[in-house]
Amino acid sequence: MNKCVFGPVPSRRLRRSLGIDLVPYKTCSYDCIYCQLGRTTCKTLERKEWVPLDLVVDEVEKRLDSQPDYITLSGSGEPTLFSRIDELVDRIKEMTTVPVAILTNGSLLGDKDLQRQLSKVDLVIPSLDAGHETLFRLVNRPHESLSFEQVLAGLVSFRRQFTGQYWLEVFMVAAYTAFEAELAALHRCVDLIKPDRVQLNTVTRPPAESYAIPISRERLEKMPENHYSAQSLTFGKTTVGLRDAGLRPAWASSRAVSGGPTIDQNADQSPAQRPGRGRGGPPWMGGRQGGGPPWAGGGRWRGGRGPDAMFEADREIFHSLLEDHQQIRRTVTKRRDGVETVTESDDPNVALAIQGHVAAMRRRVEKVEPIHMRDPLFAGLFGKAAKINMQVTKTEEGVRVVETSDDSYVVKLLQAHAEVVSKFAANGFPEARQNHAVPEERP
Ligand code: SF4
Repeated sequence: MNKCVFGPVPSRRLRRSLGIDLVPYKTCSYDCIYCQLGRTTCKTLERKEWVPLDLVVDEVEKRLDSQPDYITLSGSGEPTLFSRIDELVDRIKEMTTVPVAILTNGSLLGDKDLQRQLSKVDLVIPSLDAGHETLFRLVNRPHESLSFEQVLAGLVSFRRQFTGQYWLEVFMVAAYTAFEAELAALHRCVDLIKPDRVQLNTVTRPPAESYAIPISRERLEKMPENHYSAQSLTFGKTTVGLRDAGLRPAWASSRAVSGGPTIDQNADQSPAQRPGRGRGGPPWMGGRQGGGPPWAGGGRWRGGRGPDAMFEADREIFHSLLEDHQQIRRTVTKRRDGVETVTESDDPNVALAIQGHVAAMRRRVEKVEPIHMRDPLFAGLFGKAAKINMQVTKTEEGVRVVETSDDSYVVKLLQAHAEVVSKFAANGFPEARQNHAVPEERP
């Protein structure tokens, strides 16, 4: 039975890739919120022979007749934690001319011994998801001994001595990375690293944390490979700024929506000085699971005068759903005491966004943190938030929501709201710009 080698699997970048898993599940120096493998169970910087070299070589040899385009060191965690990569690569190259690639989080690339070991690898694909310490800790949740500056210096240092292909992958997560200031900070890092290519990616498989939401496909696809641009996107006859300059990232606390600190200003502060430092926990869940997110709990609707800390994050998800409205299906069933809705999508990214949005709205109802108050129906609904019971159940492709109330007028509000949400799903942005009437209240 094969234990270390899998595939070949189809890969957008590497075509038919024969994968080699060099660490046990799930051993990594990071614990990324978007990791498709789930949460890291062994967070370590220890480099050792996690699996026997001879076993790996033996398994690779047996799979060479599968004619892969690449043999790729990757798998159940961070492959550079394997301490005998140089010997492995040498032995692979004695058997075949198939090029060898490694997918790495890049955290150890400053290690001189690792640099030497990787010198015979044909293609190194490291990742960098943040342009500064705060976001690095939020998105990648690295081993406590790692710092952003150290990792960045390693990525730069590796480039200077590595003569093979070096492709940097940037993983974008809505409400974290997808802001102009964040992209600008990343862009500065890319300029320092000087990779041969930059490749953008986003959440396409179930992530470790449900609040790791993909950015919309348009935003990703319209950014050309090999070029990292954060200016504008054109699709059809429409050109939009990639980021609303007024938007600020979720981690950046609840100061004014526009005119907030730039990333450079934040970078002058130590992580401990920055607002809301911490890890884990979605912005849109009321509970602060795993210690709670840095910015959760600080979000208060300040007397109804302005947006709370989660406003931008919640709006980002809502807008992504409006963009993808044609991929959303919805059923509404009225009940005597309220309404039951099922909102789903065949697209797993959209399904994740639906779940994130509903969790955000439940938090807002429970905490009475209104949003979309320009619309009379939403203002009326949030005005009765204390009388709303909301039960949310995740489905395979979205959510089932049961909203009930003992108050017959609130039942009417809930049913009217459910119909309007169905119109959002049917019509997208044009519907969201409309105001919607509140039901008449019987005396
Ligand atoms: S570096 Fe890779 S394996 Fe490690 S937690 Fe992040 S996504 Fe998962």
